[in-house]
Amino acid sequence: MLRAMTSLRLPYLSSRLQGFGTTIFAEMTRLAIEHQALNLGQGFPDFDAPEAVKQAAQRAIAEGQNQYARSFGVPQLNQAIAAHQKQYRGLEYDPNAEVTVYSGATEAICAALQALCETGDEVVMFEPFYDSYRASVAMAGAVSRVVTLSPGKEGFGYSAAELEAAISGKTRLILLNTPHNPTGKVFSRAELEHIAELCRRHNLLAVTDEVYEHLVYDGEHICLASLPGMRERTVVISSAGKTFSCTGWKVGWTCAPPGLTRALRSAHQFITFATATPFQHAVAHALQLGDAYFNQLRSEYRARRDLLCDGLSDVGFQVIRPQGSYFVCADIRGLGFESGTQLCHILPRVAGVVAIPNAAFYLEPARGDALVRFAFCKTQSVLEQSVERLRGSIEKLRAEAHRAAAAAGAGA
Ligand code: PMP
Ligand code: GLN
Repeated sequence: MLRAMTSLRLPYLSSRLQGFGTTIFAEMTRLAIEHQALNLGQGFPDFDAPEAVKQAAQRAIAEGQNQYARSFGVPQLNQAIAAHQKQYRGLEYDPNAEVTVYSGATEAICAALQALCETGDEVVMFEPFYDSYRASVAMAGAVSRVVTLSPGKEGFGYSAAELEAAISGKTRLILLNTPHNPTGKVFSRAELEHIAELCRRHNLLAVTDEVYEHLVYDGEHICLASLPGMRERTVVISSAGKTFSCTGWKVGWTCAPPGLTRALRSAHQFITFATATPFQHAVAHALQLGDAYFNQLRSEYRARRDLLCDGLSDVGFQVIRPQGSYFVCADIRGLGFESGTQLCHILPRVAGVVAIPNAAFYLEPARGDALVRFAFCKTQSVLEQSVERLRGSIEKLRAEAHRAAAAAGAGA
């Protein structure tokens, strides 16, 4: 019998997803469009992928590469990923049994958590975290346990004791991100060795998100899987979006030993089945661009980092200089604000610039509300204009901060 309309259960959103709201990136990009502001919020380059890479995609379409791809990736891409991993990380993966292609790293993270976690398992991660982590953990029926990264003289750090304490009998895996969004932290060898030791000691899996692997300015990127005893228990995730300035293509991948890969593919085949075929061909081409491309990418990004960090410091933000990624976090209290969320909602209208409040990246938003994140994956002229707009709006911003503090005082 048909159910009566009145029996429809509300709210529609499952309890697993309640409380997550709309992603902060969509919200802030909407504000950027509304105020025609310079968008240093959502992390997408305002410049294009290399010409040869775009042409490779166009060629693939013209040559009829337009039907479903093999579920775990077109062979040329799986091979190119394995070759890249060997050349840059010294790790050998079998392209057929150990490499899988997804619709972006976001899908890879989601598939990994779906495939590897039982309901109630705990996932240890660092906060601030990329916002999809916590939602993907929740969708998998697992529970997030966080260790907080705090700004200090040497950049962002954490307490090793806090990390050890976050691990319990229910912990299934550690979800790591290096270079890290949003802090720009590049985990050091000593930190990674400790994480690896904990994984071995407690028999944990590791999932390491390395989408910014080629954007390291100070120190070196070390893949967790390259440490002793880690290859067999680690899922390495990366993606083409940042490395080849094509975030809209959504091509990501994992490298993991065969048993883990079989589990990942079980999830992937029922999430998206396969990823856009022509873009996979183009990314296979891109991964073979070689050292000259990666070196130039890094040096251009280093110049953008320096430009924005120096400009923001000059304007009155307290900048925590990132070692990697294309983000910089800045403390806003020097401008008279207490809340980064408040500042980020005022900034597009008053200054014509958009940033992301770090609060969105914490379990307890208040823990991160003194910080905001600016993206520097933008052309030099946009970065310069952004700094000039901020400089020109400083008095207005201070006045807004003053008004907000007075209103909060009156309301108290
Ligand atoms: N992980 C991190 C840390 C990210 O910053 C992002 C997106 N910017 C992703 C994963 C998602 O990557 P993709 O666009 O390939 O899904
Ligand atoms: N990863 C990008 C960022 O951190 C945005 C991704 C998204 O919009 N979901 O800004």
